[in-house]
Amino acid sequence: MPGRNFLFIPGPTNVPQRIRNAMAIEQEDMRAIDFPKFTLPLFEDLKKIFKTKSSRVFIFPSSGTGGWEAAVTNTLSPGDKVLMSGFGHFSNLWIDLCQRHALDVQALEVDWGEGVPVEQYADILKKDKDKKIKAVFATHNETATGVTSDVPAVRKALDDAKHPALLFVDGVSSVASIDFRMDEWNVDLCVSGSQKGFMLPTGLGIVCASQKALEARKSAKLYRTFFSFDDMITANDNGYFPYTPATIFLRGLRESVNMLLEEGLENVFKRHNRMATAVRKAVEAWGNSAKGIRLVAKEPKWHSDTVSAIYVPEGFDGNEVVRHAYKHYNLALSVSLAKIAGKAFRIGHLGDMNEMMILAPITGAEMAMKDLGIPVQLGSGVAAAQEYLCSTKTNRLA
Ligand SMILES: *Cc1c(COP(=O)(O)O)cnc(C)c1O
Repeated sequence: MPGRNFLFIPGPTNVPQRIRNAMAIEQEDMRAIDFPKFTLPLFEDLKKIFKTKSSRVFIFPSSGTGGWEAAVTNTLSPGDKVLMSGFGHFSNLWIDLCQRHALDVQALEVDWGEGVPVEQYADILKKDKDKKIKAVFATHNETATGVTSDVPAVRKALDDAKHPALLFVDGVSSVASIDFRMDEWNVDLCVSGSQKGFMLPTGLGIVCASQKALEARKSAKLYRTFFSFDDMITANDNGYFPYTPATIFLRGLRESVNMLLEEGLENVFKRHNRMATAVRKAVEAWGNSAKGIRLVAKEPKWHSDTVSAIYVPEGFDGNEVVRHAYKHYNLALSVSLAKIAGKAFRIGHLGDMNEMMILAPITGAEMAMKDLGIPVQLGSGVAAAQEYLCSTKTNRLA
């Protein structure tokens, strides 16, 4: 079929040509004498992406889920009490992982469309006089609902309670696209993956661990072998890995980090905010003609700059919109999952993305919705996005 598939799911995201070129190479010897000359600067530059000087970055050949497991098993022990909250498919999966690792999980259930319940966290932490809670978890960006949480506020809740618990952050769909500050926010473990903001194929779990987290591993009793920080540290300190690393992915990651640093992280975040705002303008315009179309994120403070989950009007199936767009317009939007399955569809707007690209899923979603009888005004969302993009344009040659 001529033309290309338009991929607008929140991971895997589009892999830029520069990264694809960097990965179209021969295999190499991961024990070569000059391999550390490549890996050691890569570890250093990755720290800039997490905005940290004092922490350490681990790269596992896994997906983000492996990163969760690495963070948990290296720093906690069976029966440890942990405070978590679930408000979407991914935050709930992290809860499930912790339960399966025999942690004593206090999981707060939150309405989908909201994020980490910071006031409740603050209250629970204050009441935990004996400091029984060993870790507090925050999903920075819930990809299922398009909700971004306030991580600094979670830090503040810990500090106000003078609580020593470790702070875990799921940054799989935020790191490298939404502002994240490991050191300033005093985060202990941040988990990310290759196929979202890093613009790579799926295949790496990237974990950033603070000195406090590294210290915690010395008494942590959960089992780990493949995901052992100790084994990684011993080998990584010399620029090597304890088992065969995904060298092709590391070469791609090098290019990804180059691209992010060349653009400048703050510009990357601004660009993501602009793409997201264009989508939000379109959603608002659709809602004017088709009552019920709205973001799953309940309030602007929860709006995600990397993914938007969009309710369709009652009586319609959001996942049918996704199937229809794929079948007729070669456009990959993203389905809604679990509790809101069928009630919404999602547009991923992260990674390698610009003005013309972001207009594509807006146009295609509009066409698919119209085809299915949802009373959206053709062109309404596109026009609203165009107006916004015109009024905020930048000179990319300046
Ligand atoms: C994608 C995602 C994950 C899971 O990562 P996988 O790479 O699919 O294992 C975890 N958390 C969030 C927030 C995600 O978006």
